[in-house]
Amino acid sequence: MRKLRAAVGSNLGKQAASQERRKKRAPNSSQAKPSAPKGRISECPGTPADLANQQEEKIFQASVSPYHLFRNRTEITAFRKSLLSWYDIEKRDLPWRRQAEDEADLDRRAYAVWVSEVMLQQTQVATVINYYTRWMQKWPTLQNLANASLEEVNQLWAGLGYYSRGRRLQKGTRKVVEELGGHMPRTADTLQQLLPGATGVVDGNVVRVLCRVRAIGADPKSTLVSQHLWSLAQQLVDPNRPGDFNQAAMELGATVCTPQWPLCSQCPVQSLCRARQRVEQEQFSASWNLQGTLDVEDCKPWNHTLGVANFPRKASHRPPRKEYLAICVLEQPRALGGTHILLVQRPSSGLLAGLWEFPSVTLEHSGQHQHKDLLQKLELDWASPCYPPPVPWRGQTPVTIPPGARWLTREEFHTAAVSTAMKKVFRVYEDHQPGTCKGSKRSQLSSPSCQKKPSWKKPNRGQQVLDSFFWPHVPTDTPSLNSAAQ
Ligand code: SF4
Repeated sequence: MRKLRAAVGSNLGKQAASQERRKKRAPNSSQAKPSAPKGRISECPGTPADLANQQEEKIFQASVSPYHLFRNRTEITAFRKSLLSWYDIEKRDLPWRRQAEDEADLDRRAYAVWVSEVMLQQTQVATVINYYTRWMQKWPTLQNLANASLEEVNQLWAGLGYYSRGRRLQKGTRKVVEELGGHMPRTADTLQQLLPGATGVVDGNVVRVLCRVRAIGADPKSTLVSQHLWSLAQQLVDPNRPGDFNQAAMELGATVCTPQWPLCSQCPVQSLCRARQRVEQEQFSASWNLQGTLDVEDCKPWNHTLGVANFPRKASHRPPRKEYLAICVLEQPRALGGTHILLVQRPSSGLLAGLWEFPSVTLEHSGQHQHKDLLQKLELDWASPCYPPPVPWRGQTPVTIPPGARWLTREEFHTAAVSTAMKKVFRVYEDHQPGTCKGSKRSQLSSPSCQKKPSWKKPNRGQQVLDSFFWPHVPTDTPSLNSAAQ
């Protein structure tokens, strides 16, 4: 489902163009990527490349059983009408919907929907609401966001996950400001051409609805199925209310056609749903798998206990990669302005790009020698010179810190662009501070009832190595070194 249509409302309604749009689309996300070449319109009609594309398209169309398509325009119109009527009555009151309805300025409206669409990718509505509200308060227009720093973007995005989304969003707004005169494209096609990163993907909720409505039981992440879902979404979208249709499909998936307990009896498209029909008429199942065609059905064996939830098939996931890190929380407990902790910045590309984290070292495995490995690494990276906080410190002259590192107070840490994982590490660290109520999520400094004077323990053998670098430089204020492994 092309999500950003909501951004420009009915201006995107171009019924005749839907077929062409399907052909032009190129994927922009790892989720539900249709293979662009299958439907791409040739820039040179009549050329061999164009003919090849047309041939490919024919093969693609022929490869899908008609059972998984909408039969005719009447059926499509009925689907749209039922879904939109239901949505008008049942839709939840969400901030981005309010904004889209109340905002008269098309650019502001498009931006508001764009932000919500990006945030909602891979993230639940309940989580997004708070982030969205704060984001729109801070950057109510795309010009505001374009002028923000990446650091600020990461900071506000912290905890929402998939951090590249925030970066892409900001990059897109900069492009609109610098190259498009600050105006969002007014049609889906120009949007796709000019801001390919701004277009959405077939949302997980929509995938589920479409797979069930058309009884698509093959892996929805496979190329063939992605193409088919993309094609269906383009076919179904209402040209007069594309944004609402898009929201309605997502709303249906989120509230009625839920993953485990779909409420079919309350579903506005129940009469058009093949999964529902299959549950009611199991005798048809034998005729579904059409011999000789490459089918997207592929949903055997049928599990009677699941009912319509046989669709869609659960995609096979690659097991997550395990990585062991030894992480060091290094703090200066008596620096001016309160305790400071040391953070380093991640590289500007790749996983969690640009976010701040505690110094760490990757371990070969989760072993007993992680402290030793970490300290050896820190000796190399941080040993000389020693870097106290960049603030006047008990009358001492401020000392610079190396690029890519900084000292933060605890308060600053909690609002900084750090990942949820680092916040968890810090909680573990605080819970194991001397004098802290162990097991409490609050530290000795944040919980008055637990406050005891921190006792500086003599460093153990492992810590002596690193500590030795601090003693000569810090004669009066001793840093505390603790490490936590994740
Ligand atoms: Fe989903 Fe049931 Fe509606 Fe079909 S009838 S779309 S399975 S809720």
